[in-house]
Amino acid sequence: MLKLFIAALSVALLYWLWHKKNQIFSKRNNKVDPFITTIEAIELQTFLDWDTPQLCLESDGIRYGKQFKHKLPPDLPHESRCRCEVTKLFYTSDDVFQGTSPILTHKSALGEISSKDALLLKNILLKIITDSKEKSFTDFLAQFELNSFSADIRTQAISLAEKAFQSADNK
Ligand SMILES: [Zn+2]
Repeated sequence: MLKLFIAALSVALLYWLWHKKNQIFSKRNNKVDPFITTIEAIELQTFLDWDTPQLCLESDGIRYGKQFKHKLPPDLPHESRCRCEVTKLFYTSDDVFQGTSPILTHKSALGEISSKDALLLKNILLKIITDSKEKSFTDFLAQFELNSFSADIRTQAISLAEKAFQSADNK
C-alpha cells in the first residue's frame, strides 16, 4: 500500500514539475514575443554620386514611422540635385535593434551596389563635403579602409570620390 502511495505521489510530483516547466517556458516566450514584432516604416535612400548634396547624404538610411524618432518623411526632392527615394518596408524589431535594413542594395552612379559598399562610399562623400580642406586626395583617402570596397567597384568608387574631391576643392 505504501509503495502504491509513493508511486502515486511521484506521478503527481512529476506532473506538477512538468506543468510548472511549461508555465515557465510559456512565460519566457511571451517575454520574447514583443521583440520579434514586425514594424512598418519608410526608409529614405539617397542616390550616391559625386555631386549628391550634403543634406541627402545625411538623410540616407533614416527611417520614418510611428515607432521611430522621425514620424513623417520629408517632402522630396530635398533640393535641386536630390535623387532620394523613399521605400515602404517591414522590419523585424531585430533589424531595428541591430541597425540592419531589409534593403540589401543601394542605388548609385556605379549601379546597384551592396549596402556595405554604399555606407563606405557615403561616408567618404560626406567627409569630402565636411572636412577635405588643405589635404591632397591621397592624404584624405588614407583615413578610409578602401580595401573594404568590393573589388569589382573599388576603382570606380575611388574615381567617383576623386571627382567629388576635386569639385569640392574648386568651390
Ligand atoms: Zn535628397
